[in-house]
This record gives sequence, C-alpha cells and structure tokens, in this order.
Amino acid sequence: MSTQKIEWNEKLISVRDKSLHTLDINIHKTVAEKEKYRKDLVENDSSLTENEKKFLLNDLQNMYDALRINNSVEKQQCNNCLNWHRAIQYCEFCIRKYLENNFGNWTSGNNEIDKLIQECQRKIKKPDVVIEWIEYNQFENIKHLADGGCATVYTAIWKDGCYHKWNSERRIFERFGRQKIVLKRLNNSNNNNVHWFQEVTLSFTLDNTAQFLAKCYGLTKDPTTQDYMLALNYYNNDLRHFLKDNFHSLTLLQKYNIIYFIASHLNNIHSQNIVHRDLHSGNILYNLRNLIWKIGDLGLSGPVDKPSNSIYGNLPYIAPEVICGEIYTKKSDIYSMGILMWEVITGETPFDDYEYDLELTLYIVKGYRPKIYEYIPHEYTILMKQCWDANPNNRPDANTIWEKMDSLIKSLYNEMDKQRENIQSEDFKSKIKNFFKNIQVIRNTSKVYRIQNSKIYTFNITIQPRNATDEEQQAFDSKQFEFEISEEKEQYLKSIGTNN
Ligand SMILES: [Zn+2]
Repeated sequence: MSTQKIEWNEKLISVRDKSLHTLDINIHKTVAEKEKYRKDLVENDSSLTENEKKFLLNDLQNMYDALRINNSVEKQQCNNCLNWHRAIQYCEFCIRKYLENNFGNWTSGNNEIDKLIQECQRKIKKPDVVIEWIEYNQFENIKHLADGGCATVYTAIWKDGCYHKWNSERRIFERFGRQKIVLKRLNNSNNNNVHWFQEVTLSFTLDNTAQFLAKCYGLTKDPTTQDYMLALNYYNNDLRHFLKDNFHSLTLLQKYNIIYFIASHLNNIHSQNIVHRDLHSGNILYNLRNLIWKIGDLGLSGPVDKPSNSIYGNLPYIAPEVICGEIYTKKSDIYSMGILMWEVITGETPFDDYEYDLELTLYIVKGYRPKIYEYIPHEYTILMKQCWDANPNNRPDANTIWEKMDSLIKSLYNEMDKQRENIQSEDFKSKIKNFFKNIQVIRNTSKVYRIQNSKIYTFNITIQPRNATDEEQQAFDSKQFEFEISEEKEQYLKSIGTNN
C-alpha cells in the first residue's frame, strides 16, 4: 500500500516530537542508537495504523540517512557501484557519481561558482538537498514579494522542481515537479564585491542537510540585470505571524518546542563559528505541513553600502553592547534569543508600545527589558533573564539553552503522563484539536512572507550597558515614571550636533 496518501496531522506530529524529546542522550549516545530508539517507539505505538507507522518511519529514515553518512553505522554494499554505503534508502556514492557525470552539462558562466556548486554536489548527503545551477528560464510567474536590506525577494514557480528522490532501479534522480519557491536577488552581485559570494557560499555549505536553515536549492542569474539570485524553499509563514494567529490556542509544550528548535538550530550555526546577527521572529520560518521550524536569512553584514559606523538589525533584538559599538558575537545572538523566548511565552511583540527611537535605545542600554508576567514558569524566566543579561559573559551558550529546554520539555511530558492518568483524556484531545483547527484557518488566508524588517541604525551611545534593578524594571513595567534619560538624550543630541 502506498504511504503517499498520508499527510501530517496532529497525531503524527505529536508522536514524532515525543520520540525526539523522550530520547535520553546518556543512553542513546550514537546516531544509530538514537535512530533505533525513535523507530522502536513508532513501531510499538499501538495508536498508529500500519500506514501511519510506515509514513513516520519513512520520515525518520529520511532524516537519519543524511546523519548516517558521516557516522559510524553499519554499511551495506551497493549492487551497482560495489561501494559500502551508509544511507539506507540510497547509495550516497551512486548519487554523487550521477551528479559528477553531469558536470559537463551545465555552467553558470562563472568558474568560481561552477567550482563551488561542483564541490557541494560531491559532498551531497540527501537526494532532496542538492545545490545546483538553475537556468533562469526554469522560473515563471515571478512576483515581487519584499525588499530586504540587501536583497529583493520574489516568489516564482520552478517548472521542473528540485531533485527529490533517487530511483535506485533506474539509477536516476527524480524531480519534484512544479513547485513554488522564493528567489532572492543579491543586489550588486554583478559587481566584483565579495559579500554576495560569501552569502552564496554560506547558504550552500552551512547546512547541507537542510536541518536547521531555510532550504537552499542553488543559484540562477537574471539575464536582464545580470544579478545572481538564490533559489530558496518557500515557507508558509514566520514565527511572528504564527504567534499572532495561534497564540491563544498554543499549549505550553508547543511554546517550549519552538524555543527548543530555535536553540538547537542556533547551536548548529554557532558550532560552525558563524554568528547569525539578525535573529528575530520574522526570520524564523516554518512549514505548515509538518510544523518544522527553520532559521531563515543569516544576517551576514546587511546591505553592502551601509555606513561603517552603523549596524543592521531589528532594534528590540539588538544586544545592548552592539548598540554601544561592540561587534556582533555569539553572545549577542543569545541576547536576541532571550527576547524571542519572551515573545513566544507571552505572544506579544517586544516593546510594542514604543517607537523604535533613541529613547527605546537608551532604555535597552540601561537594562530595561520586556515585562515578566507572573504566569511565566519560573525556570523559563531564569533562563530568559540570563539570555538578556546586560553582561554578555552572564549569558548561556546556545547548547545550554537547548539542553535546558529539553529538560523542561521532558518534565512536561512526565507531568502530562501523570495528568492523563487522572483527568479524562478527552479534555487533552480537544485542546490539541483546537490548535489544529486554528492552523486550518491560517492555511486558507494567504499570508505575506516577510523575509525581514531589520534596518540600518547608527548609534552613538557613550554610556555602558547595565542591568536595571528590580525596582527600576517595576517602574518601567507600570510606566509610572518620567525617565531619567533626558540628560543622556541631551548629551547624545549635542554629540551629533542637534540642539533639540
Ligand atoms: Zn552505489
């Protein structure tokens, strides 16, 4: 029977997520042990039909095949090339050979780009994550979507679609067929500046299994302007809109899950010594189909032509030390993470009732943060406050946040197991159902895909960042204060030669 007809639904997503969160990294240490644990959990779940099991096992295998390739797992000999391959659903040597044999059939017209794409194809781990050169005439219905800081973004239809599946019998790649994608025009990429090439290289190499970054398919070139364009996966929505539309029906577990995934993805980025620099809720993307969260748009350096004393970002998420002239670091990404934690747990937009101006900038530097409501769980609050501490050294790293969220989620599962024994499970089921009912609603309203709303700021702040005292923060929260920033404001205005 075909597994194609099954679609992701609440039950399948919850089994998938549970199999991940109940992993014990002290017991399931290797990739093979993790894979086995999760597959066993699915196999033994009596609530699933055989077809549902097949569907989930297939999804797990898809992910683990890519992870197996560079790990010590059992190998199998390929009937075709006789190499010992590690992936189960395909032979990684065969698919690499197939792509290599095709090198003579395409060119970008630029030697450096050809070499880069060939290099990526030689290291391919998954048949559905292949970087390639795509002829511009493959795209139709190109529609302007948004202007970002360093790029213009369009949606388009890719006629043949991406490489999708390896057909072992016929030894060919099958393509997805017509699909909606996003084209990101890299402004000034026809010039000889290195910025755009850096962005292309990072987009191609940072995540070659598309586990944590928005999926990238490759590169094309607009024949009219000669600009290069990245072809990226189309995601239905971003975290900001998701929260706006669904917050009231989200469970605590679902909120924790979002932060868990963002922290895990950020950890992946940081472990390769890359700083994101522009983390905010408009940059966290997800697929409605399977509720998988991805990090979009690495901030890189913003527009090529920005003044050297300026920074590029989204004010509420910019760490105070960056505002005060320090460079972006992993720790400044963690500051943004703290603000994201607040946003996810409250459903509100940080500093919603303030203009993004000098006053707010000074508040942030003086340690004022979004309000901590009483309903926010204590342990979560502690972690969030550590993340947005004015002193970067007091902030945890992404791995610590990830582990902490994992333990918070594990204790929620324990609690839920206990509760389920006591309370009638109907209540729980109906809660989950409501959540998906809501998702259904947004599915039908066409949303604008916002790649970012960061901008260039030029600050000239001479004071040192600090934390606010509890009393100061309370006054800030209740807005019962005339701020003592007028002096600094005056100083600042003087320093830039303005009198009022
Ligand atoms: Zn082979």
